[in-house]
Amino acid sequence: MGHYHEECLRLRAEPRRFLVTGVAGFIGSHLLETLLRLEQNVVGLDNFATGSRENLSEVLDKVGPKAASRFRFVKGDIREPSVCRDAMTGVQVILHQAALASVPRSIEEPMTFHSVNVDGFLNLLLGARSAGIQRIVYASSSAVYGDDLSSEKTEDRIGRPLSPYAATKLIDEIYAGTFRRSHGISSVGLRYFNVFGPRQDPTGPYAAVIPRWIEQLLCNEQCVAFGDGTASRDFCSVDDVVQANLLASRAPEHDDSVFNVGSGTRTTLLELFELIRDGVAPHQLSAGNAALRFDPPRAGDIQHSLASIAHAREGLGYEPSADLALEISETIAWHASRMLRSSRAAPQGIAPTLRSEHVT
Ligand code: NAD
Repeated sequence: MGHYHEECLRLRAEPRRFLVTGVAGFIGSHLLETLLRLEQNVVGLDNFATGSRENLSEVLDKVGPKAASRFRFVKGDIREPSVCRDAMTGVQVILHQAALASVPRSIEEPMTFHSVNVDGFLNLLLGARSAGIQRIVYASSSAVYGDDLSSEKTEDRIGRPLSPYAATKLIDEIYAGTFRRSHGISSVGLRYFNVFGPRQDPTGPYAAVIPRWIEQLLCNEQCVAFGDGTASRDFCSVDDVVQANLLASRAPEHDDSVFNVGSGTRTTLLELFELIRDGVAPHQLSAGNAALRFDPPRAGDIQHSLASIAHAREGLGYEPSADLALEISETIAWHASRMLRSSRAAPQGIAPTLRSEHVT
């Protein structure tokens, strides 16, 4: 039996109270869904800066009223000490996801990013001591590897940050380590690589590549790659990120309690585009012939990013699922269904089978 399966059984046997910050966002909403399914009590904190009420309603509808009754939502800002204190009441474990998360936006708005990502995190660390929190698991990022040129990123070797966003995540790691030593706050940092899955926001100028391309292909619009398409990323399913968080909520703590969370495999943008195009084609006939347009690389972007997951395997018992094509096709199905559910007009040429399956 895998470590994750064992951890799920343990949680069911001894439920705990979790605080999920950023609960209305992409990753936070998946943590909420899994925790409620595992019969845990969850407090969620969010100010809807980038998250949405729709994400919360989708989760609560999916898990049903009994599980939903174990959820308390606090609308508020992690920068407000009184809001954090209220949200932490009776909580044992914090899964901290709230942050502003876009590299290009952080170059335009560094002060806002510092205030949310660093001041907000400090607030939680300060509140955690008086609230008697047993463990804070916090979202860091592969962005901390910056200009390190190693083909595979290992936790003990980072470069210089290339964006204010990366700097905020690195500062968070430094503060978490400092508070472990100075205040006895137990924490584990998770450096997520490129996470994808249902409920990731496809809209706006800062959307991540997978939801953006999926929706553009479904709408028969042009997809754009920054650079020549040979840049590569480690695309990690959101289910694996949930797994890493739950394992980290109880794993033994060490002074090097920062772990990569990725799939451990490299995919170029060109390969990704092919996978998405093939997956969208059954839903949108025109996608089969779609081609990428190549625009100049953006400031702050890195060329290659691949996680070594050896440390997470050993320290957490983390074992990612290894089927990118399947996970992408599930994500495509969610976007297709979302587009049909929303008031937005169905794109021309969308396959009739999908219409009848998803319109209720
Ligand atoms: P997201 O934008 O969907 O979620 C972030 C959530 O935090 C949103 O619901 C937002 O409203 C909330 N939030 C922002 N500022 C807040 C504040 N001041 N007070 C309360 N809530 C606030 O992003 P996500 O992709 O779910 O990312 C979650 C975490 O994972 C972030 O810390 C991000 O930096 C990190 N991360 C994500 C990825 C990825 O690929 N998605 C990769 C690396 C790291």
